[in-house]
Amino acid sequence: MSEEANPFESLQEQIDDAAAFLDVEDDVVERLKHPERVLELNLSVDMDDGTRKRFKAFRSQFNGDRGPYKGGIRYHPNVSRDEVKALSGWMVYKCAVVDIPYGGGKGGIVIDPREHSAAELERITRSFAKELRPLIGEDQDIPAPDVNTGQREMNWIKDTYEKLEHKTAPGVVTGKAISSGGSEGRVEATGRSTMLTAREAFDYLDKDIEGATVAVQGYGNAGSVAANLLEDLGANIVAVSDSSGAIYREGGFDTAAAKQFKRETGSVSGYDQANEEMTNEELLTLDVDLLIPAALENAIDGELAQDVQADVVVEAANGPLTPEADDELTGRDVYVFPDILANAGGVTVSYFEWVQNRQRFYWTEERVNDELERVITDAFDNLVEAYESHDLPNFRTAAYVVAIQRVVDAYSDNGNWP
Ligand code: NAD
Repeated sequence: MSEEANPFESLQEQIDDAAAFLDVEDDVVERLKHPERVLELNLSVDMDDGTRKRFKAFRSQFNGDRGPYKGGIRYHPNVSRDEVKALSGWMVYKCAVVDIPYGGGKGGIVIDPREHSAAELERITRSFAKELRPLIGEDQDIPAPDVNTGQREMNWIKDTYEKLEHKTAPGVVTGKAISSGGSEGRVEATGRSTMLTAREAFDYLDKDIEGATVAVQGYGNAGSVAANLLEDLGANIVAVSDSSGAIYREGGFDTAAAKQFKRETGSVSGYDQANEEMTNEELLTLDVDLLIPAALENAIDGELAQDVQADVVVEAANGPLTPEADDELTGRDVYVFPDILANAGGVTVSYFEWVQNRQRFYWTEERVNDELERVITDAFDNLVEAYESHDLPNFRTAAYVVAIQRVVDAYSDNGNWP
């Protein structure tokens, strides 16, 4: 894994690469490469032992031309200002590529949540929510879960916001528990859009998903659901991993059983169905039909990309390939289907959750999944159309071409005021 790759610089490079194929003024492109504002906080929170600790936290609002800022909140020791800026930018283009009416934002706290009790995490989250209060709101900026946050954290943010505002506002965050305004299908949505993207990609490339061998790096929410739904389509999930290591089984895993093992033990490592334990690097370079990086950014750098043997890569994680890795894979005709399409299911069902919250009218899981399938397959078709009509080098550039054009159109309709 590359230590140096700066995700914000990767994002800017991706925008430049795509803008070169569009008729957009340089100063407009420059604007699309930087966040509108970034809030940097130092939270001072009481610990259970009576001491007080400082936590650095960020919220980046990248672009609001197409609607309220939207994006997750990550709890991780490696959270940084540049990472949050990059993730907020990817949200802008992700929402645009699937054509949902949001801009992009992202937040994070520099923290290892495993080192804290639930009571400490609640105080830290509520402290963050109090600071975010002037910036967030149903029509302003709508946080959601990301790495190491989930329904519990979203409910704390919603409750803090509602109490301070003296009103109910379930649409201030998405990814909530169903009992407090969450949507059916939200937990599975990112893995589902990854599966849908892989299904459409294999169809487009005239390959069979049934019987295809698949390796999944990062067996968390996104990765494990994608693996499970691909298994339902008849794919063979031969390798899965987490931060402790990877496991391989030639005949394919029972993905639900592997998930249960991880739930019980905290890791997939040591699972007795496996023929072999391996490193994450070995998993990423397996000779498989489909590779799904579903952990964190920069999982594959230029050097590792030289050893990637998969025919197709579908990115469930945000930014798992460095630009050098992207160039290397494009040069070798490995088809990469980008994060901003493949993992857009999360934000799409977040959007459905927000729509349901605003209408106080809730959908069935079947309706959620049907609407999600429509959004992802339409977006896939738009991307193929751009790829073919502009003769683009890869599908990432195609996704950015579609997305940037939509943001630019909204910006020029709005006008540049003041
Ligand atoms: P998660 O915390 O549920 O799972 C992440 C998994 O990756 C864990 O199993 C962890 O052990 C593993 N991991 C961490 N570092 C690793 C490493 N170096 N090698 C191998 N595995 C490693 O998180 P998630 O929600 O599944 O998110 C995963 C990725 O998907 C992130 O990039 C996130 O931004 C992206 N994403 C998630 C959602 C969502 O709705 N959950 C939506 C869009 C994008």
